[in-house]
Amino acid sequence: MTRILRCFLIASALCLLPVTAAWAWGALGHALVGELAQRHLNPKARAEVAKLLAGEPNPTLAGVASWADDLRNDDPERFKATARWHYINAKGGGCDFQLERDCPDGNCVVAAINTQLAILGDPNQSLEARRDALKFVVHFVGDEHQPLHAGNRTDSGGNRFQISLRTPIAPEAYARKSYVDGVMGTNLHSIWDYYILASGNLKLMDYAKRLNRQPWNPAQTATGTPLAWAEESCKLIDTQGIYPADNEHKMDHAYLDKFRPLAEARVHLAGERLAQLLNQTLGK
Ligand SMILES: [Zn+2]
Repeated sequence: MTRILRCFLIASALCLLPVTAAWAWGALGHALVGELAQRHLNPKARAEVAKLLAGEPNPTLAGVASWADDLRNDDPERFKATARWHYINAKGGGCDFQLERDCPDGNCVVAAINTQLAILGDPNQSLEARRDALKFVVHFVGDEHQPLHAGNRTDSGGNRFQISLRTPIAPEAYARKSYVDGVMGTNLHSIWDYYILASGNLKLMDYAKRLNRQPWNPAQTATGTPLAWAEESCKLIDTQGIYPADNEHKMDHAYLDKFRPLAEARVHLAGERLAQLLNQTLGK
């Protein structure tokens, strides 16, 4: 193939990347959760993680943290089959998730964490299945702590709550055409996935170092299950006023600045809980 033709084909393929809402903390949020957890693995769990991730391009929890989202482009069939594992929605309007109603056939983030943890901890499973299970768990524990991944409204976790954000932050590649004259056409879900943490203006390792200075909270970490964590996320949506007052759809950095401490606290707690799950599952 000539070089020009090859370049043309690559450019065409890039144009075909889906222009859809993000599904989770953006790559930075997920990597932060992974990096924080990595720093708190016990020696046995650390060794197990290294064994499972051997051969990965970046064989760390941070390095594989967005794999489950990357399937969207890398393995669309598998992404489709696992898309509902990234969130849970309480259909009763409150925050009491009922798995029979809200998690049909085990297709929600709560069940996915439990199922993948069981695979991860089962020595009779193949190395490949356990490696993928680890990558899923790292991702989904992060997702579950993004409040809009465990809500009770009918707007797809804020994906259908449109926001125009005045910001100097360049959007992720897939969304660049929605960024005009310093105003980004986006939605509340993406504000939480990406813009709040991006407005911290820190690179991964600097951000992880800073968050890691905050004290770990064994009491909060030790309690609860993935189901309780979903309820905790859900309750934050109303108690913290995550939806803009009066259904205001215009936003500037005041919102990002106001909620950055909460987003960082959620990432921090997700990192703690992930480390604890992995120490329990791989570190004994
Ligand atoms: Zn996700």
